[in-house]
Amino acid sequence: MNQRKPFMAGNWKMNLNREESTELAKAIARQAPDPDRVDVLLAPPFTSIATVREAIGGAPILLGAQNAHWEPHGAFTGEVSPPMLVEAGCSHVILGHSERRSLFGETDEIIDRKADSASRFGLAPIVCIGETLEERERHRTREIIESQLRGSLRSFRERKMLPPALLLAYEPVWAIGTGKTATPEQAQEVHGQIRKWLAGQFDAKTAETVRILYGGSVKPDNVKEIMAMPDVDGALVGGASLKAGSFIHIIRFEF
Ligand code: PEP
Repeated sequence: MNQRKPFMAGNWKMNLNREESTELAKAIARQAPDPDRVDVLLAPPFTSIATVREAIGGAPILLGAQNAHWEPHGAFTGEVSPPMLVEAGCSHVILGHSERRSLFGETDEIIDRKADSASRFGLAPIVCIGETLEERERHRTREIIESQLRGSLRSFRERKMLPPALLLAYEPVWAIGTGKTATPEQAQEVHGQIRKWLAGQFDAKTAETVRILYGGSVKPDNVKEIMAMPDVDGALVGGASLKAGSFIHIIRFEF
């Protein structure tokens, strides 16, 4: 049994208005599990961060953003910086989500700059990686994952130090928003490979302590079996995080 505390994150993407965000955050806050046993994070759109922060009140729920620029300020129209997110109450930021990679052209190099900067400014990066269906079918999963890890964590590799608060999220692209979930065995296989890679690039302790989340159509009816895998430490949840009932079920998976 490993010592890593489960981490369950809801990625709201570009969804929910002010009233819906408030209602959902309040409902989750009322049912928040014991923070000594599970970390729960909500990542609403930028414009709802303040609303959600207020709705959460004193409940043990972490707040995250879905993206950040690498610079602290300047002429970057449309961007939001890590210090701005910290000031807004965020402790985490999702970086390199496959939608950012495929729709907004984010490369491993950009993700590396963002992750390095976020951690310097006190935000814990949640770095996402994952293969497409075509890559999986061509048996390239391991190669793609390792290449994304190498590129997205380049600055940390050069310093031979991974920030202790950093999380990784394995999100097979073919399982995101499709209703197709990786089997627990498929998730475990890749998570195990990631942990081995971390041991080789950093050290055994880093590999043992980094939390690796699985993302891709996690739902109340599959969360338990995925979380039972030894190298799966949590979930990054899209669709099922938008309804109080399903997300509460997911974050209370072990109770
Ligand atoms: C995600 O967007 O990170 C995700 C995993 O989405 P879904 O749970 O809807 O597949």
